[in-house]
Amino acid sequence: MAGLYFHIPFCRRVCAYCDFYKSVETSRMDPVLEAMERELPAAAAWIADRRIRTIYFGGGTPSLCDPGRLRRLVDRAAERLDCSQIEEFTVEANPDDMSGAWIEQMLRAGADRLSVGVQSFDDDELRLMNRRHTGRQAEEALRSARAAGFRNLTADLIFGVPGFGEQVLRRNLDRMLELGVTHLSAYHLTVEPNTAFGRRTERGIFTPVDEETSEREFLLVHRILTEAGFEHYEVSNYALPGFRARHNTAYWTGEEYLGIGPAAHSFNGEARRWAAASIDRYLAQAGTEALYEEERLCERDRFNEYLMTGLRRAEGIALERFEALFGRPRLERLLREAEEPLRSGSLLLREGGLAIPPERFLVSDAVIGALFEAE
Ligand code: SF4
Repeated sequence: MAGLYFHIPFCRRVCAYCDFYKSVETSRMDPVLEAMERELPAAAAWIADRRIRTIYFGGGTPSLCDPGRLRRLVDRAAERLDCSQIEEFTVEANPDDMSGAWIEQMLRAGADRLSVGVQSFDDDELRLMNRRHTGRQAEEALRSARAAGFRNLTADLIFGVPGFGEQVLRRNLDRMLELGVTHLSAYHLTVEPNTAFGRRTERGIFTPVDEETSEREFLLVHRILTEAGFEHYEVSNYALPGFRARHNTAYWTGEEYLGIGPAAHSFNGEARRWAAASIDRYLAQAGTEALYEEERLCERDRFNEYLMTGLRRAEGIALERFEALFGRPRLERLLREAEEPLRSGSLLLREGGLAIPPERFLVSDAVIGALFEAE
């Protein structure tokens, strides 16, 4: 089964840390949504498995859209794809867009999971990040979503923000738990060059936190959430039992997915392709092959990607499956390379699989990178 992703590339304001593809020209929303309907029919033919299991509206800011308009995209998709067995329908939302009416309509439009961009409940921290909502609005948004009937509620949280230490983080986590989220994505702030934080860092007026602070905050998040019954099931993701993100898990387990919209990525098991990250090009080329760039994955790419996505999950990678996919010699090489991290405890060998212990996830990129097969 496959996942279906819609990218709504508009934001009212640009957050200081964000390097996703987005535009503040919200007046172009309607033409882009129409172009997405044009893109769908031909794009749907690109994936081999047409049975859609999960739907995800991400961005950008899908909550700037009328829920009926989002539903129309799903209905268009259902004309070409089998959408009769949807197990999860997620919409990302900004707290200050989540009026009672919007939440109700989104529920009626078929969504069963809201992903709320909270990031923090601390107003000073929100201001620093240039978020457009307050802590109170975030609380109200989560309360209203629950009251309206969204049982499956996830929120984003950012930690490792300079000037906001463990006390603020602890309060943020406590508030999340009080408000009844069932899933949490907790990201360490990364300072990307092409962002406000990146530019301030270059000018020497913003300093990212040091490694010890990163590790302390990462472990604090891990401890508070796991003690509250959440599974730390992926580097940045925590879920109560039964509430893991199915759509994202499909990305990490190599299932096919179809992305619709500017800059959206798709994967059909053998190749990856992505639409132009440009509203102008999208409007001109949606529905044509000229819109995409494509990359075929060679055996080495598939191997490295399998390691990367597998070892970022608590389950890790099953050696039997690994051997079936990549052969005995590669498995033996992997086990040889794994000797050092196994000795240091950064990797564990258990139940026929290799895994990184969740409390060491913070250094997972370095551990995984050392196992990669070079060109
Ligand atoms: S709302 Fe989301 S996509 Fe838009 S600028 Fe902020 S973080 Fe980026």
